[in-house]
Amino acid sequence: MKIRIHGNDWHAHDISENVNWCKAHNWKFIRYAKEDDHDHCLICYWTIHKSDDPEVGEAYFYGGSTWLCSECYGQFIKEA
Ligand SMILES: [Zn+2]
Repeated sequence: MKIRIHGNDWHAHDISENVNWCKAHNWKFIRYAKEDDHDHCLICYWTIHKSDDPEVGEAYFYGGSTWLCSECYGQFIKEA
């Protein structure tokens, strides 16, 4: 089964472990504020950095260092 994230195809079995881990934690939606730095979405490796573009500048945060992009959150974590 293929899943499309930010226009790229992913195999469900490749990301299922991270998806399950993410589902077990509580995420906080915040605006990325670190200057001259970036992080990657745990599931799809999307780059998250300080930006006025909400697709890259706002994301879900957990535990001090773990990030999840809005698209992955919407696809995998958000309760239906
Ligand atoms: Zn992602």
